[in-house]
Amino acid sequence: MKNNELNLPNDLKKYARVSKFKPVLVFVLCEATVLLFIFLSKDFMYQTEYIAKYNIIGHVFYAVLFIIPLFISGIRQAFSDKTYIGTVEKVKVTTTQDFENAFKPSRETRYKRNNVYLLVKDENGVVEKRKVYSERTKGVQSVDFFKAGDRVFHLYGSKYTVIVPKPSDTMAQCAVCGITTDINEGYCHKCGYTLPSFF
Ligand SMILES: [Zn+2]
Repeated sequence: MKNNELNLPNDLKKYARVSKFKPVLVFVLCEATVLLFIFLSKDFMYQTEYIAKYNIIGHVFYAVLFIIPLFISGIRQAFSDKTYIGTVEKVKVTTTQDFENAFKPSRETRYKRNNVYLLVKDENGVVEKRKVYSERTKGVQSVDFFKAGDRVFHLYGSKYTVIVPKPSDTMAQCAVCGITTDINEGYCHKCGYTLPSFF
């Protein structure tokens, strides 16, 4: 079974579609703005004394402007994310350092993050490494949240990867907002999306 054949309920399918569309739209709008700015400013820009002499500076400035939307629109993440369901083969945790203020790294603002990766085997038997979250070591979701053998589900665009409930489970975690809720409701009581008990 391929991922696009996953039998998702319509509301979750829609969530994934909108999640994909948004960064593309933001990217296109940003690039259009940059193009408009270049169009309107180029005469003025290349007439200023310094840049008239060193054209390359103007070119580099515009090239940088043009690249910025790639980083701020989230379009790169949009193409690396994927909806999947599978069984956890192995849990891998790495610890890295980070700073509260990325622009002013100092010993005082240094802290440790846990990065949790799962080796997930899909229905075709293909094993892929997936990053599930990265957070400060004293976070809410502890690193032993996932165990080998768990069936996990990740919906495109969501920041959560949830454990698919077993038939005996009474609670399920919402794949969209991440809260745990009563499985008998069928829908998340916070965001209203279908709970991942449909597999
Ligand atoms: Zn929810």
